[in-house]
Amino acid sequence: MTEQRCTIPEVGENREDLLRRMESFRAGDVRWREGRVFSLVYQYSPEHTDFLKQAHNLFFSENGLNPTAFRSLLRMERETIEMAADLFHGDEQVAGCVTSGGTESLLLVVLNYRNRMRKRRPWIRRPEIVAPESVHVAVMKACEYFDVRPRLAPCGKDFRADPAAMERAINRNTIGIIVSAPCYPYGTLDPVAEIAAIAERRGIPCHVDACLGGFFLPWLPHAGREIPPFDFRVKGVSSISADLHKYAYAAKGASILLYRNRALLRHQVFAEVNWCGGAYGGLTLAGTRPGGPIAAAWAALRAVGKQGYIENAKKVMTIADRFRQGVASIPGLQVLGEPVMGVMAIGSNEPGLSIYAVADQMEKQGWHIDRLQRPEAIHLILNPGHEAIADAWLEDLRKAVETVRARPELAGEGSAPLYGLMARMPVRGIVRSNLENLLLDLYAPGHKEDAESADSPEPGSDLPGIVRAWFRWRARRAAGRKQHD
Ligand SMILES: *Cc1c(COP(=O)(O)O)cnc(C)c1O
Repeated sequence: MTEQRCTIPEVGENREDLLRRMESFRAGDVRWREGRVFSLVYQYSPEHTDFLKQAHNLFFSENGLNPTAFRSLLRMERETIEMAADLFHGDEQVAGCVTSGGTESLLLVVLNYRNRMRKRRPWIRRPEIVAPESVHVAVMKACEYFDVRPRLAPCGKDFRADPAAMERAINRNTIGIIVSAPCYPYGTLDPVAEIAAIAERRGIPCHVDACLGGFFLPWLPHAGREIPPFDFRVKGVSSISADLHKYAYAAKGASILLYRNRALLRHQVFAEVNWCGGAYGGLTLAGTRPGGPIAAAWAALRAVGKQGYIENAKKVMTIADRFRQGVASIPGLQVLGEPVMGVMAIGSNEPGLSIYAVADQMEKQGWHIDRLQRPEAIHLILNPGHEAIADAWLEDLRKAVETVRARPELAGEGSAPLYGLMARMPVRGIVRSNLENLLLDLYAPGHKEDAESADSPEPGSDLPGIVRAWFRWRARRAAGRKQHD
């Protein structure tokens, strides 16, 4: 961060110079082009990336906010929905929208099912979502934003959702059930059919979060790997989210959210007719919607095509096999559960061998390593670009394990897993306020908070003492509940 606060320059700067400067800003970024990163960037091929940029640029200025002004975007969004609905074996009743990413898809589905149950079961005052603990954290974000309580059921020993535990978590407040295909942490596929059947029996909608696998799993049977149905073929599945900007190899800012029928989509619609600015409405969170990601998503599906995705799936699975075999050949390490695609978690099965210390050693070799907690593990998301580095990575992993085994004191120095955040924190004692402060320090460094906002929320100091005390008691109780969930 600069000491001096940045201001808009008096006179506009030279555009060529600016581009050069921006290029130089990247010097400290992770080297994804060299296959040093295992998440955050999904690349099909450098040529495809160039094509995506062209498609994106064609609709750089267009705005999806008004679909009648830009019929082009509406057309591409609808065709993208149709292509995805077909891929997930939906019929012509399937309806949905393109969103800005998996998080927005999950925010919307939680909002939708909450709104839906408000209409259908208005006596529910504390709505709850039931999901396995391996469900993506965006579900927790959605619950926090929309005042829904997440009820997370423990996974089985196989690192998949446990149908019995899920069923036990259902109660009269349940507004929806979410499972993953596959889950982000372990790459394991939840037993979708069993859990969807429970949901159907209880009259609760079941969402399949296929953000990671939606555009990968369907190709596996064509690559000689069977996989149980997870999509609209399964009765009881009411909606599916799938990220276009992951294994569909679209540009960032594109995911899809599909419902089995239009009636299910309805409760996600915002429509206001009394605003002084005129009638206004939409299906997604954003107002202004950039055209680029929609255009690039449409273009990606059409440019790669079924054969391209199948070939890619074969390639990624071959790479995944190499990583799994390589890990299996290193004593002290194991892959957790049975991952179904190129996503896996690697843990230690040797007492005293700290996988975080191993990860630190890998980082010293210039690898960017994602970490999981519960259980502690290294996380991999594989793409075609990782073919070239597989052997080097595994060799470094073997050496890292040997180093850590020889120097157990390294275990105490390991850093903590912060998915989506590249900062390092001491392993122990990450509490919510640490993370809150870390985020605020990143975006608002050196800013002061006044005493009121720094404190836990103290509602209206002008209220009578007894009312304030009641609010304090309620806030403490809510905080306690959150920690114990
Ligand atoms: C990536 C992912 C998400 C969140 O998607 P974003 O595009 O990062 O917002 C949700 N669920 C799963 C299973 C994911 O892999």
